[in-house]
Formats: sequence, structure tokens, C-alpha cells
Amino acid sequence: MEKLITIALDGPSGSGKSTIAKKLSNTLNILYLDTGAMYRATALKALKLGIDTFDETGVNTFINNIDLDIKYIDGAQHTYLDGEDVSDKIREPQVSMAASNISSLKPVRLKMVDMQRKIASGTSCVLDGRDIGSYVLPNAEYKFYITASVDVRADRRFKELKLKGHNVDFNALKEEIEQRDYNDKNRDFAPLKKADDAVEIDTSYMTIEQVINKVLSYIK
Ligand code: C5P
Repeated sequence: MEKLITIALDGPSGSGKSTIAKKLSNTLNILYLDTGAMYRATALKALKLGIDTFDETGVNTFINNIDLDIKYIDGAQHTYLDGEDVSDKIREPQVSMAASNISSLKPVRLKMVDMQRKIASGTSCVLDGRDIGSYVLPNAEYKFYITASVDVRADRRFKELKLKGHNVDFNALKEEIEQRDYNDKNRDFAPLKKADDAVEIDTSYMTIEQVINKVLSYIK
């Protein structure tokens, strides 16, 4: 029987995790799960219902029955909410902050983690997120903690949003990233942290190719 491999990629927003995870999934021909998309879709649901993303009682009214689905079309992850493909909508800047807020609620995390473990079970995969190596898949064979300075991360996000035609202010974006870092690192349940056995890679002054090669050097 073929050996399954599981790779956990954690780190703050804009560190390059998703680009690295996509390339790894192509190179190794394994499934890629972007767990942030699931928190984003949950936030979108709350926004649609007009529920405050910090309101645990309100969020509890829908979280356990949320109609959230992940499908793969030509190898790319698509996120469905209530039967609608929301893959683009969840990338809107206002959803980012809402996702950061809602992800601090324990019932949300328990639901998402349960779904993530089911998707990852019995298959080789790479998951990116904040708590994959420390909480979702503590037995993952390979764990990486991907970081970059806040200026570099804000600059990457700025260029990405500009390309998509969003009119963004660099300083506001940097502040938002700092706020999301703070939320992620300081929540009570399953915060963002480097797992003790994760390899830390600072990508601030590295190209994507250099990061991929470094990650692959541990896997091969
Ligand atoms: O990775 P991405 O920026 O798309 O994630 C959106 C938000 O979801 C993050 O700001 C973070 O607060 C939350 N998240 C999380 N745990 C994960 C993945 C994302 O708390 N495993």
C-alpha cells in the first residue's frame, strides 16, 4: 500500500503559505486544502445573515448546520456556501477581517476542524492554515511554519489586491494584517503558533522557488 503523507503549513496572513501549498500539491500530486477559505465562507454566512462576527450566540444559530462544501474542479479548490460557488466572494477585503473575527469563536473552530480532519483523512494532503500542525493534524509527518516581516506581507497583499482591481491603502492594509496577526495569536482556543516540531522558514527575502526547494529538501 502506498504511504500517505500529510503536510501542515502554518503561518500568519500573507506569508506565502497558499502559493507554496498549491505548488507542493502539484509537484507531489496530493490534495490541497486551504482551510482559511472555510473560515472566510463562515464569515460570509454571518455577514449575509446580518450576524456580528463576534456574537457567539448568533453564530451558534447556524454553525452546526452550515451548508459549506469544498469541491475540486480541475484540481482547484472551490468553496460552496448554500450551494453557491463563493470562491471569489470570500477574497473580498471585508471578508478577511470578518473571517479573522469569527475564527476566534470556539464553536466555529470545532466545526471547521472536524470538517478539515474528515477531508484530510485517508489521503495524502497539504493543509495550510494557522493551527494545522499544532491542533488539526498534530501527527502530520511534515510541519512548516512560514513567516515574513509584516511590511513584506502587507506589500505582497497590496500588489495582489491591486492586480484584482481593488483600490487599497497600504497603511490601512498593514494595520489590518497586524490586527489579524494579533487576533490569530491571542485567541484562547487553538491560536496561531509554531508547533514544537515544525520547521520555521522566513520567506521575507526568498523567492517562491527558493522556499519550495527548501520545503522539498525536507520531504525528499
Ligand atoms: O488564510 P486566510 O487569510 O485565508 O484565513 C482567513 C482567516 O481565517 C485568518 O485571518 C484566520 O483568522 C482564520 N484562520 C484560522 N485558522 C485556520 C485558517 C484560517 O483561524 N486554520
